[in-house]
Amino acid sequence: MYDVIVVGGGISGLLSALALGKHGKKVLVLERSDYLGGNCNSYRVDDFWVDTGPHAITHLQKGPLRVLMDKYFDYTPVFVDYGSYYVRTANGIRLVPSNLREFATFDVLPRMDRLMLSQAVTKALTLVTFGTDMSKESVYSCLPHHLSDDTYSFVDTISYFLSGKSMRETSVYRILYGSSFVRNSAIYDGEYQTITDQLVGQITSITGLGRLVTNKTSYAQAYPSGGLKTLLGSVLHSLPDNVEVRTDTQVRSILTDDGKASGVSTDDESYDAEIVVHSGFAKDLPGMINDLPADYRALLGRIDQAKSLCIWLGLSQQMKEFDYTGSEVWFKEKAYWAMPISNYSQGIAPKGKQLVGFMFVVEDSVKSERDRAWETIHHVFPEIEKRIEMVHYQVTTPEKAAVSIDGYIPDVRTPVSNLYLVGTDAAAESMGITRAAYSVIDLLKCMREDRHLEPA
Ligand SMILES: Cc1cc2nc3c(=O)[nH]c(=O)nc-3n(C[C@H](O)[C@H](O)[C@H](O)COP(=O)(O)OP(=O)(O)OC[C@H]3O[C@@H](n4cnc5c(N)ncnc54)[C@H](O)[C@@H]3O)c2cc1C
Repeated sequence: MYDVIVVGGGISGLLSALALGKHGKKVLVLERSDYLGGNCNSYRVDDFWVDTGPHAITHLQKGPLRVLMDKYFDYTPVFVDYGSYYVRTANGIRLVPSNLREFATFDVLPRMDRLMLSQAVTKALTLVTFGTDMSKESVYSCLPHHLSDDTYSFVDTISYFLSGKSMRETSVYRILYGSSFVRNSAIYDGEYQTITDQLVGQITSITGLGRLVTNKTSYAQAYPSGGLKTLLGSVLHSLPDNVEVRTDTQVRSILTDDGKASGVSTDDESYDAEIVVHSGFAKDLPGMINDLPADYRALLGRIDQAKSLCIWLGLSQQMKEFDYTGSEVWFKEKAYWAMPISNYSQGIAPKGKQLVGFMFVVEDSVKSERDRAWETIHHVFPEIEKRIEMVHYQVTTPEKAAVSIDGYIPDVRTPVSNLYLVGTDAAAESMGITRAAYSVIDLLKCMREDRHLEPA
């Protein structure tokens, strides 16, 4: 009999197991694949270490991952400052504006459009600051009319890379958060506070309109030196002995007894537990539990997802075009988000060589998206072909629930007692790993309230 069974050994499942293990719980983690970490992972391809997609970890200075690291990790990985966000143009790279002052000189877009966009951002930020819920307002609906095609394309690209969805489906809330005009990391001044119910209301107290003039959040973004495997390694290393982990073990069903979770079953075995924490896709729950309420099933069916194609290129020589740390977007033709990842630390690529990850949003068939992606790469970097010595493709779902205006995002609590959710589909705040960490903080808070964890 376990205190807690965690379904899935991605970053959210492992962080949950770590925290609960350190609170003295006897925990079993069951992971269906033969490796741990889910999307938070790196592996070797030829002589290069590729991550599961290019990553920038946000809100690192005061956010939820920092809280968990400080409280539960035996050691924290070394993080390298992320660098900057750039736009690639025919004339090289330009910094992406992150405040109005930078916007004024961002001549990649027509002057009149910049002026109108600045006004739109100011208005949205003012509304958020004074408590208006912008989570159901699409970015497109807040844009001025008659902008140039380039400007719409730019905004669409930023929306795609922040939410996986177009500007018509992405909420203003997500853009303000993701672009770091707004942050909510300061809510962790004291003990854990409930997160899922708060969203926009809570950020208002710390969102200064001053951000429009100077935006100093970039320092809080970083990349783990050595790659995502370093972050994963420090979580695994910190797991106490009372946390047991099994790979190659797919959970087929979550068992219930009188409306309460009571364990899980796999193809070969059943395991009893007081609490079940599900970190796989919440969308899968209807296939795993018999007596899930019909209205909850319907809500889970509304979870929206996006797919990405990542093309990793191992280059035989460093290219001057990738002589920076950070990332770049290309917003014409097939847009991409790219990171010369080996610039962060030695060992990711062999000496003198370079590893660059290009991420594309998949809207059509993978085959046609891959062809279009290559057209863009060749068009933007005509010289690159001569340097390519390794190509590696990844097709993934970066987040288990996209933050779109119509999509549903479940809470950590479910209608089944003692069954909780964690992961990128159980929190709306921030993105990716930070978002997963928010859900874990929320899990601890909910378990305390439900008297499954001692008060702090
Ligand atoms: C291309 C790409 C780019 C990204 N960029 C960033 C970024 O810049 N910044 C950032 O912070 N994040 C980024 N992310 C997102 C980040 O990697 C993920 O959001 C995060 O790792 C998700 O963690 P998770 O634990 O919620 O889910 P997952 O990693 O999906 O883990 C879930 C685990 O559960 C297992 N599982 C599922 N069902 C079962 C079952 N029934 N039984 C047993 N095991 C099961 C799965 O095998 C998996 O290992 C990116 C991701 C990708 C793919």
